[in-house]
Amino acid sequence: MARFHTLSARLVRSVPLSEFTKHLEFEVNGSPRFGFVSGQWLSLRASAPDGEEITRAYSIASPPSDNGRFAFCLNRVQDGFMSNYLCDLNEGAEITFQGPFGSFILRPPLRDTAFIATGTGIAPFRSMLHWLLADRSRHEGRQFWLLFGVRYERDIYYREEFERLASEHSNFHFLPTLSRGGPEWTGLRGYVQEHLPGIVGVRTDVMAYICGLDKMVSANRELLKSLGWDRKAILYERYD
Ligand SMILES: Cc1cc2nc3c(=O)[nH]c(=O)nc-3n(C[C@H](O)[C@H](O)[C@H](O)COP(=O)(O)OP(=O)(O)OC[C@H]3O[C@@H](n4cnc5c(N)ncnc54)[C@H](O)[C@@H]3O)c2cc1C
Repeated sequence: MARFHTLSARLVRSVPLSEFTKHLEFEVNGSPRFGFVSGQWLSLRASAPDGEEITRAYSIASPPSDNGRFAFCLNRVQDGFMSNYLCDLNEGAEITFQGPFGSFILRPPLRDTAFIATGTGIAPFRSMLHWLLADRSRHEGRQFWLLFGVRYERDIYYREEFERLASEHSNFHFLPTLSRGGPEWTGLRGYVQEHLPGIVGVRTDVMAYICGLDKMVSANRELLKSLGWDRKAILYERYD
């Protein structure tokens, strides 16, 4: 069986994204060789109050960098241990983890791509899109749509960042979708899958990456398959 090193990292920045969600940035301790590919996740370990060792996976929400830093986009889960433990950490606190793991990564050759997320499922796409759009040679000639489903306007995490990326790159289309938007909301409404046919039309040569809770991932996979998509063109990551 493969063995993985346990690494540690220090929380250097903690920013609330909404009432129950945080953006956390960490710096890896003493391991300049720590590297990952956009879309991968880390396995975190901590001791619960009863002494039980808890391990949970978290997608990396930042693009690869050579400064040993990475970020998470974390949601407090009611009565859950790890998510609340991490959201309660103070700057300077240490975590231990293994990784990176996962094959939910951009597959060459790059095609026009629909990224479909709800909630903190945005994490791997923030990493992928920052990486892709940082270098013309990585994205030239391709179209990218980010369908991001949340309940309310205030839950559109990283909104300014994605709006800025969309204004700077005519091939990146940011499509936040609210399931409970107020009357003032002029953007998309409902569930993300309702808008997929409108984006991809009858094309089946687009790649789809889907990330979020199981119910939403299944709904989007089923829809794409019913539209005639090849299952190999649909990659997904389930959080539960
Ligand atoms: C590959 C992978 C990547 C992940 N990346 C992220 C990430 O980037 N950000 C993030 O916030 N979470 C992510 N998760 C979910 C995370 O691993 C934990 O499951 C979550 O934080 C709950 O852990 P907990 O110990 O607080 O609660 P637990 O006690 O483990 O969970 C309590 C209950 O909540 C359900 N649940 C699990 N995750 C969620 C959720 N996100 N929203 C609502 N209910 C949930 C579980 O099914 C369980 O029934 C990822 C999961 C996987 C498998």
